[in-house]
Amino acid sequence: MSIRTNQHQFICAKCEAVLVLLDYDMNCPNCNRKFPNLPRDEKLFKDNAISTMMFYKRDHKMYRPLGFYIGSQGDMMLSVTYKFFDFLEQSKPDDDIKFFDEYISKIKLGDSEYLRKHYRDAIFPILQIYRNEGFEKYLKDKFGIAPRRFFPDWSDITAYIKNLIS
Ligand SMILES: [Zn+2]
Repeated sequence: MSIRTNQHQFICAKCEAVLVLLDYDMNCPNCNRKFPNLPRDEKLFKDNAISTMMFYKRDHKMYRPLGFYIGSQGDMMLSVTYKFFDFLEQSKPDDDIKFFDEYISKIKLGDSEYLRKHYRDAIFPILQIYRNEGFEKYLKDKFGIAPRRFFPDWSDITAYIKNLIS
């Protein structure tokens, strides 16, 4: 089974780095350009990551789907995030910040070293939410109600609809 989401991606006009929307106020991790007009109606990476993780974990006891399809920078970032949280829960380190730093330092990025900062900036806020209020409370506080259900594939949508009408 594959699972897909579309993270909002954009390209830095100065250095052409392909980036994922982490915050409405952010700088390019490569050339440090401050982006003047990021779209405020696009969902932030952390909110997509947290809602997909929460539901997938609930149903499948893990964060990273086995058939996760990677076709974009945003997919790659989700994959790295899911793997981190699975690894964190398997490893149960005493110091999760140190564990996080080691994990980030080991990601293989080829000639795109600037992505290490991008991934750090993407995942660290999620780790802070995980350590503090937890994913469920974060989503409830931010969106008021339980977040939109994320559908991994058509069979899940069918099951969901059956649940609604039964
Ligand atoms: Zn740039």
